[in-house]
Amino acid sequence: MKDETILRVKGLQTHFKTDDGIVQAVEDVSFELAEKETLGIVGESGSGKSVTNLSLMKLIPSPPGKIVGGEVLFEGEDLVHVPENQMRRIRGNKISMIFQDPMTCLNPFLRISTQMIEVFMLHQNMDKKRAHQESIEMLKLVGIPKPEKRVDDYPHQFSGGMRQRVMIAMALSCKPKILIADEPSTALDVTIQAQILELMKELSAKLNTAIIMITHDLGVVAGICDNVCVMYAGTIVEKAPTEELYKTPKHPYTQGLLNSIPKLGKRREDKLYSIEGQPPNLINLPDCCSFYPRCEFAMEICTKKMPEAIPVGEKREVKCWLYHEKKEVFRDSPVA
Ligand code: SF4
Repeated sequence: MKDETILRVKGLQTHFKTDDGIVQAVEDVSFELAEKETLGIVGESGSGKSVTNLSLMKLIPSPPGKIVGGEVLFEGEDLVHVPENQMRRIRGNKISMIFQDPMTCLNPFLRISTQMIEVFMLHQNMDKKRAHQESIEMLKLVGIPKPEKRVDDYPHQFSGGMRQRVMIAMALSCKPKILIADEPSTALDVTIQAQILELMKELSAKLNTAIIMITHDLGVVAGICDNVCVMYAGTIVEKAPTEELYKTPKHPYTQGLLNSIPKLGKRREDKLYSIEGQPPNLINLPDCCSFYPRCEFAMEICTKKMPEAIPVGEKREVKCWLYHEKKEVFRDSPVA
């Protein structure tokens, strides 16, 4: 049976006004998220993945930031236009978020119980006694040993991995429809990272929560995501089911990212592949493919016009002139 789409993002644009000009942090981003799906949003720093997700939650600091276009459709409403008091009921309750460093999200002066109880009382209208009991249940669910005792500890009394488990417990307290995880395992060592990802996958299946996983780590995507969106310079350049993206990456940027992963069996003296050049300045981006200065397949048309997203298979899309027939109307010549 086909899972229902629970979130539709169409043509999202988020800009920041600065003294040097308009930073087009997110430009024409569209994607869909189905029930129980885990969607990866991958890209290098500054590609717009975190701003995209902060825009979904309407957490963009304004000014200088502003959602200037597009729609975020969730439960029949466009979140871009819902008033702040309604948004406060959605955040944490229906759409939750966890971040890279739990220490910056947990209040170091308050016991975990105080911080968790607040979530249940605020969003679920529970009394204090029941909220305390539910907090213990959630800690048990995320694998904290002796939760009855640990619930009254302070954040500094937990290790990094355990703190991230506490954050996951808090984020899932209200059994949200969507969990946005922004680099949730980056600050952890590899063993703990694997445990946290496994835990998220397990809990999302148990609680029917879809996950948007923001990461720069293609290993994380391979381990947990059903589908993946690759972002570059504020836009999604390729979308695909994870397995297909790894087998047959279409966009030259995705190909470059995958080529730059160290491979087993390579000799020490072999040079590791890297994509030449730097990501573009997002201020006043030109209306053409922003990857062209770094792309070995760039054609004349790439410097003149932005390609539209084009289907390249079932549930696959790519924004690249290489796959457009329309490019034939231009006289293509390699860019010097
Ligand atoms: Fe390269 Fe052109 Fe495709 Fe951009 S549109 S990725 S420059 S081939």
